[in-house]
Amino acid sequence: MTIIYSAQWTVPLSSPPFTDGGIAVSDDRIVGVGTRQILAQQFPQAEVRNFGPAAIIPGLVNSHSHLELTAMRGFLENEESDFFAWLKKLTIARLERMTADDLNVSAQWGACEAARAGVTCVADASDTAFESMNALRAVGLRGIVFQESFGPDPRLAQENFAKLQTKISRLRELETALVKCGVSPHAPYTVCGPQLEMIAQFAIVEELPLTMHAAETSMEVSLLSEGSGAFADGLRSRSIDWQPPSLSPIQYLKQHGILETKPLLAHCIHVDAADIETLGETGSKIAHCPKSNAKLGHGVAPLTRFLEQGMTTGLGSDSVASNNVCDLLEEARYALLLARSDVTETNLAAGLSAADVLQLATRGGARALGRSEQLGALQAGMQADFAIVSLDGAQQIPVYDPVSALIFSSSARDVVLTVVAGREVYRDGRVTTVDESRLRARMKEIGEKLKA
Ligand SMILES: [Zn+2]
Repeated sequence: MTIIYSAQWTVPLSSPPFTDGGIAVSDDRIVGVGTRQILAQQFPQAEVRNFGPAAIIPGLVNSHSHLELTAMRGFLENEESDFFAWLKKLTIARLERMTADDLNVSAQWGACEAARAGVTCVADASDTAFESMNALRAVGLRGIVFQESFGPDPRLAQENFAKLQTKISRLRELETALVKCGVSPHAPYTVCGPQLEMIAQFAIVEELPLTMHAAETSMEVSLLSEGSGAFADGLRSRSIDWQPPSLSPIQYLKQHGILETKPLLAHCIHVDAADIETLGETGSKIAHCPKSNAKLGHGVAPLTRFLEQGMTTGLGSDSVASNNVCDLLEEARYALLLARSDVTETNLAAGLSAADVLQLATRGGARALGRSEQLGALQAGMQADFAIVSLDGAQQIPVYDPVSALIFSSSARDVVLTVVAGREVYRDGRVTTVDESRLRARMKEIGEKLKA
């Protein structure tokens, strides 16, 4: 069966926006893009679903999330000025106070929030990837779930790596056409050099995508450059021998083979010109997380420099513990306003447009996940991953340009339909695939437990 989705505006991104048309979808694919008249001629038997004053856009791609942490939205506000304490409270809550079912519910609720926000695909880093993959499958989102690996102590590197291998073989069995697994050594300060090397080799041999946090904080920089600061003190207190390599985080990751995997690196705030060149040369990709970076006071990543270098860049919400929402339209708006308000970057950023950041939130993310041939644009032959955003609200009228209205006046709350591989996962105000009222009640329960 072919369905024509039409609206006042269509924003394919691989071609200019147009009015009074839409897309034709058959099974999991887009089979036509054009005006209402052209689509009616091409697909005379198709059912037409018209959304009126709204924009059809490619599905948003969240290139860095932690859906399992959705229950920690607003849980860590008092620790925000101390990232070490923030990580510690989060880790204890996740490992000691949340059951496997709590983490599954938390990830499902995060996936529902994403579906409601027009997000069709996520790059999700997860300690309990088994639960997160199941959550994506239940809600019907597309994504890669990256199994996290931790281990700052070189004496335990082999053992920790073996645990990761075991988990991956189990996760492989959960893979579907939509949901895949990958690996994620958590960060340079939580995974020792030998373990980074083993994981990088494993990713290459097994053809697993790799993501990790990189160059996120000044504490990470001082640990690697001088062996000082809270992360260094933390290692010492656990009797872990640490000799600082006197390298920047990016050069350190290069030294330990991570950049050979063409990784997707989240944050990349503390990078200099040489680091950016290295990232470009190695084909590394960036998950730009401007709101999380700002909320935790970690700094501003040089987005315009990344783009100037032609680097593959997507947008990430990071976990809602540090955001506090998964709203890629808001993330795109914030990325643009932040780049424009940085006076040292003004000349460069002056050229950054609403269309550019919408590209980051869709095609950039698709490219960062290695899926740009199937995702990120409305084009015949591509996967039918798209969202429809109402542009009829008080905050949006009048609309002179749909892209400008999407970026500067719209948010997740304006999304009216989300479709993944031709399946409507969110419509008429509800996620169609799971029981949201059960999940809502369970989320409140988990919140009460964490608060106690
Ligand atoms: Zn993260």
